[in-house]
Amino acid sequence: AKRAGTHDVVVYQPGMLDRRADDAALGEDLEEAVSSGQLRVLYQPMVDLSSGRPVGAEALVRWHHPLRGIVSPLDFIPIAERTGAITGVGLYVLEQACRMVQTWAGHPYVSVNLSARQLQDPTLVGSVRTVLDRTALPPDRLVLEITESAIVDDRVALPALEALRAHGIRIAIDDFGTGYSSLQYLSRLPVDILKIDRSFVAELDNTGRGSAITEAVISLARILDMTTVAEGIETPAQAAELQRLGCRTGQGYLYAKPLAADDAEQYFTHPQRV
Ligand code: C2E
Ligand code: CA
Ligand code: CA
Ligand code: CA
Repeated sequence: AKRAGTHDVVVYQPGMLDRRADDAALGEDLEEAVSSGQLRVLYQPMVDLSSGRPVGAEALVRWHHPLRGIVSPLDFIPIAERTGAITGVGLYVLEQACRMVQTWAGHPYVSVNLSARQLQDPTLVGSVRTVLDRTALPPDRLVLEITESAIVDDRVALPALEALRAHGIRIAIDDFGTGYSSLQYLSRLPVDILKIDRSFVAELDNTGRGSAITEAVISLARILDMTTVAEGIETPAQAAELQRLGCRTGQGYLYAKPLAADDAEQYFTHPQRV
């Protein structure tokens, strides 16, 4: 049992101490990760489902830790959020992504994940504009992905989203359908794209049952004048069903895994035909 009092003996469950000490250690290392170039950005192509041609890419960060090897964003982004290191990490990913996408054939866009804490940061809009200026990327080639739950405080998040959009940047809601926003709330959000979560795509097959949620999200998007992007497409049957339902863009292992920058450049130069 674990007791919180200062003078009590604290008995941790197996793994608990490790986990905490680990998180603290990772948090400290993270400060250095950005400055010493340990973060790498991978790019997962997003394709037009009917032609298979790439139209954009999602930037996905990895941490090449000197001792631990490759650390997943699922393990360090939450820590970066708590310590505040996410500001530096997020801007690094954004700048890399904006620079890289410029070098690819076909004028694709790049989609960059924003965390809750970034969205609450009053300097966000200025920083994003500075990066666009510095990299000379046209704003219509940048998409920022946020989750429903990242809108912690509307009074800060909504004006920021409005300002980004007024600048020509598109906003996507990531993992759509896994949060709890009401339809009324969604209709007020300044958003262009709904990303259909992988868990719903995984339920699709070609037996005609499909997923009621996917179907509902696609018609909802149409009503609200938004587009949809499906994530985690792994089979041709899923791709076919998504198209039948009216989704035109998607990403997933069926087309490409997240690629190193060099491989992504190749991919855009010589897209695989599906
Ligand atoms: P996400 O934004 O939902 O990204 C999609 C995740 O699904 C990625 O995991 C991607 O590698 C994986 N994926 C793509 N296609 C498939 C597929 O066909 N099948 C399966 N099973 N998985 C697929 P990844 O790269 O491990 O990223 C995990 C999460 O970490 C992301 O989820 C995102 O929430 C977060 N993340 C990654 N990079 C960043 C970043 O730069 N900033 C922030 N704030 N979060 C990030
Ligand atoms: Ca995402
Ligand atoms: Ca997602
Ligand atoms: Ca997801």
